[in-house]
Amino acid sequence: MSKSEEIIERLKEAGVRYWAGDNISKVLKEGDKQALIEEAAVAFENVLDKLVIDRHNDPNSKGTGKRLAKMYMNELMAGRYDPMPSATAFPNDSASRYEGMLVVRSELTSMCSHHHQIVKGVAYIGIIAADKLIGLSKYTRIAQWCAERGTLQEELANDITREIQKATGAEHLGVYVQATHGCVENRGVKAHSSLTQTTVLKGAFKDDAGTKKEFMDNIKLQQEFASGK
Ligand SMILES: [Zn+2]
Repeated sequence: MSKSEEIIERLKEAGVRYWAGDNISKVLKEGDKQALIEEAAVAFENVLDKLVIDRHNDPNSKGTGKRLAKMYMNELMAGRYDPMPSATAFPNDSASRYEGMLVVRSELTSMCSHHHQIVKGVAYIGIIAADKLIGLSKYTRIAQWCAERGTLQEELANDITREIQKATGAEHLGVYVQATHGCVENRGVKAHSSLTQTTVLKGAFKDDAGTKKEFMDNIKLQQEFASGK
């Protein structure tokens, strides 16, 4: 039985779904990822053969199978195989607790599960802190971990919202994702702009017009800052 077959058995036994956007780290053991890279490298070499590319003599195609396998497992889809980044929570429950809105801008690279083309964009994560806070860089680490999989942008915004909610305990939060899609720009309609926006709002971000406006205004300020205005 190959390593991937063995892992699929474990996933089925544990009842864990293993779609392109799912994380399977909880059934992985030490050394599994390296074994999967070795297996995927051979499979990618097979794909090159089927595409009739002379990977034996073309110096630029030699080793491409292994490069692809490593790139998928360690970079583009790392969020499927690696456990959630640890995010130590700090108490925010004293008299001087922070009660305002916090908005973090996180740059993301993802890929669409339909075409395996790059999705590149930015997530704006807004929360009204509950009784704990996580380090500012952790918002981005969690968002990137959600993005490094095969996703749909609609799913991605939901995934980031759910994981940030889990890590912070916040009830009031919003996630706005703005991204361009390689599958729209590089093939099919070859559109010059594939900019797509998705918004997920929870709690006051959804129900309170003032909070929602503050979040959207903050996003505009962030965008102006990022573009150097
Ligand atoms: Zn696509």
